[in-house]
Amino acid sequence: MDALAGGAGGPGSLGPLLATVLDALEAGTALRSGPLPAGSPAEIAALVAEGLSGTRGRGALARLTELLAYGAADPADPACAAHLHCPPLAVATAADLAVSALNPSQDSWDQAPAATALETALIAELAALVGYDPARAAGVLTSGGTESNLMGLMLARDQKLDGIVELDGIPAGVRPCILASAAAHFSVQRSAALLGLGERAVIAVPVDRQLRMSPEELERELAEVSWAGRTPIAVVATAGTTDTGAIDPLDAAADLAGRYGAWLHVDAAYGGGALLSDRLAPLLDGIARADSVSLDWHKLGWQPAAAGVFLVRRAETYVSLARRAEYLNPVDDEQAGYPSLLGRSLRTTRRADAFKLAVTLRTLGREGLGRLVDTCHELALAAAAAVRAEPSLELHSEPVLTTLLFRYRPPGPADEAAVDELNGQLRRLLLRTGRAVVGRTELPGEGAGRVRLKLTLLNPHTTVGEVGALLREVVGAGRKVAGERAG
Ligand SMILES: *Cc1c(COP(=O)(O)O)cnc(C)c1O
Repeated sequence: MDALAGGAGGPGSLGPLLATVLDALEAGTALRSGPLPAGSPAEIAALVAEGLSGTRGRGALARLTELLAYGAADPADPACAAHLHCPPLAVATAADLAVSALNPSQDSWDQAPAATALETALIAELAALVGYDPARAAGVLTSGGTESNLMGLMLARDQKLDGIVELDGIPAGVRPCILASAAAHFSVQRSAALLGLGERAVIAVPVDRQLRMSPEELERELAEVSWAGRTPIAVVATAGTTDTGAIDPLDAAADLAGRYGAWLHVDAAYGGGALLSDRLAPLLDGIARADSVSLDWHKLGWQPAAAGVFLVRRAETYVSLARRAEYLNPVDDEQAGYPSLLGRSLRTTRRADAFKLAVTLRTLGREGLGRLVDTCHELALAAAAAVRAEPSLELHSEPVLTTLLFRYRPPGPADEAAVDELNGQLRRLLLRTGRAVVGRTELPGEGAGRVRLKLTLLNPHTTVGEVGALLREVVGAGRKVAGERAG
């Protein structure tokens, strides 16, 4: 029971355990009849408590794996379509298992010789995908867009406030601010707080109906903050907003950031996947002008989490993350040609998340992955057509990438607050019955009429017929809830 995963005996010890895991995955998935287990959160928690308390010894792996599979919201199920939560490719998952067994850590060469070289090569490949000069760019694998956005804004702060911030804090009298659209990811505000700027340092630039940042409003806000004596350290442009996939005007953002001396960070955590598709990549034209970029391959990239990437256009802007730890990257080792990735990351111990992505890119190629992106995009367009064809559903706007927002609207006059409540309730009914995982969000702005349901289509094997069935589930749940409310 205490056998190790690595070493000469590792594969032999792992073999039977893997067979156990695969059997339990199959059994647990078969017990669940839909994308998630039916039941309330309290019922699921009780099942988990029972599994944990009633299991000891050799049987734990099988029993708890079965429970995990039964209790999963399985993104490989066509009716699981709420979030940027992708079904991982089998080949990527198998590659990740090799990483778990060997456990390389990216903070020093002597913990990860090949993995260090592999991450460096992959970062160059991804820099080229973004349009950066790979010889000048730099980057790192991250835990996701949240960490990548924090890193981009940290480098922006240190570059724009004369690089003294890390040691001495923000200079007295300087009032830094960050401009991001009202639909930008909440991690922008959180980063500002963590960086000592305060959440209110983030100025929300208005968006259009599709949630795309207005370039005129960005220009107006930049002029206003500059006039008020504040220092705009960064403009954050989102390439693929979480809810609608809207892509901010990247060239206009680059022009304006340049004019006001601000750093441009492009949050392409979702939309970065479009770079894999010849058809959709032009939507991201201008991304190569960004000072830094966030990409997430655990979204439109079919990797098991985590597979975030942070890139900078010019490696020298990484300076404020550089660290010398005598036990990890001593000068004499570096001079002798032993490279270190320590100064690329906020983290110290770091998993070799580059490996699964490198394997996937070699296995499917950019073209193969691009076809998966195109398939999901086409599925979203078909889903939008199906929503438009259903009188009790109302489409918010045409899909840009692979998401669509809509709502259930019962026939006849209805007040907006009641429609909001109805949509929230029908979504929870679908969760409770285990029949569908549909997203729920609110549009920026005030008042009622903001609640929208969301489909995030990331399963390239889902058929148009299955999306149609999912929409019928939504309508069915809407009728049921509306009927109960009326009665
Ligand atoms: C998902 C997302 C993030 C956060 O990424 P994590 O990988 O969840 O940390 C940031 N920005 C956008 C636009 C996203 O969609």
